[in-house]
Amino acid sequence: MKREVMTFPPDLIEALRTAHHVVVSTGAGVSQESGIPTFRDGLEGLWEIFDPEQFATPQAFARQPDLVWGWYEFRRAQVAKCLPNPAHQAIATLARKVRRLTVITQNVDNLHERAGSTDVIHLHGSLHAPICASCGQSYMMSANDAQAGETGGRLPPPTCPSCGGLVRPGIVWFGEMLPEEALERAQQATLHCDVFFSIGTSVVVYPAAALPFMAAEQGACVVQINPEPTGLDDYASFSLVGKAGEVMPELVAAV
Ligand code: NAD
Ligand code: ZN
Repeated sequence: MKREVMTFPPDLIEALRTAHHVVVSTGAGVSQESGIPTFRDGLEGLWEIFDPEQFATPQAFARQPDLVWGWYEFRRAQVAKCLPNPAHQAIATLARKVRRLTVITQNVDNLHERAGSTDVIHLHGSLHAPICASCGQSYMMSANDAQAGETGGRLPPPTCPSCGGLVRPGIVWFGEMLPEEALERAQQATLHCDVFFSIGTSVVVYPAAALPFMAAEQGACVVQINPEPTGLDDYASFSLVGKAGEVMPELVAAV
């Protein structure tokens, strides 16, 4: 069967070729084709048993640290089994074609880094960077050493070598502030970019959802890639309807 070659608006290609700073903001949709379910399609499978009250608040961790740590170790093990997809790879390739590129992700997996992206801001934290719940010391965990088995279950969290407190997942939980430095860097990049991509995000979780509007306001070319409509449709300079892993590689090849 003959495959159609995608064509892109010449203005978009020109904007990318002449850009000084490109920002690529990504959400769960970018990792979907790697086999990591988004919240929405995940009401079955991974997210079926997920009750935010039980797993994703500081109170839940204080109450049942073994349950919470076990859940995030399980998710880290799931991510270790997944591979970056053509969207992650195309974003890393684009970084080599433009002067400067910053990735701002709401994802807590490490697939951008594993695809070769180097400037990655994790707005909602990371499965691989836990922190001490008492003294705030941060730790790095390698991609392939998750302790949990196939089903998750309870697992005692490590204790902090500095203070003896419990180490907790480095995830921004419900009711928590975003890491200040990450948010500040994301906002600065957004205010100074000339092209801003919004890929695979439903644009509903704030403050991340404010970034594309901030970019549009300061005059950047805003490009959305999503198979479904979002609240950004009417504000984006270009709305490319489709899967990130299909659209992004063709777009980057055309630059
Ligand atoms: P979301 O689940 O609210 O929205 C996902 C978006 O991706 C939707 O608009 C959907 O239409 C789109 N999408 C689905 N498949 C796609 C594809 N193949 N290509 C392009 N787009 C696709 O996710 P969100 O906007 O990131 O925000 C929700 C929260 O979920 C965030 O806080 C995030 O931390 C968390 N989350 C993260 C992961 C991860 O780390 N991989 C996974 C699930 C949820
Ligand atoms: Zn500590």
